Amino acid sequence: MHEMALIESVVEIAEEVARQNGARRIIRLRLDIGELSIAEPDALTFCFAAVTQGTMAQDAELEICRVAGRGWCLDCATEIAMSQRFGTCPICGSHQVQVTGGDDLKIKDIEIN
Ligand SMILES: [Zn+2]
Repeated sequence: MHEMALIESVVEIAEEVARQNGARRIIRLRLDIGELSIAEPDALTFCFAAVTQGTMAQDAELEICRVAGRGWCLDCATEIAMSQRFGTCPICGSHQVQVTGGDDLKIKDIEIN
């Protein structure tokens, strides 16, 4: 499950930030996850609970914000909204579409104590 590895690195980064700020606990973590990301929010939440056992983020709240997918149609040179990774252009129906945003996972905010 790739969500496990993703969450592990997210928790590692969060702990690093918390330590640098002299915190003892991580209370809340906010993640931005693109709609086109391969990460499943439900799986992330599940993995988060497992991975954070015994870490500074134990019992922390995980908030997931979805970020809309965006793409660029090479045929009509227009920025389009994308809801799936290999979608077609809603204007001309072309498959020549490049994903330009909403395909990644980012830490938005870390609340520490
Ligand atoms: Zn198009």
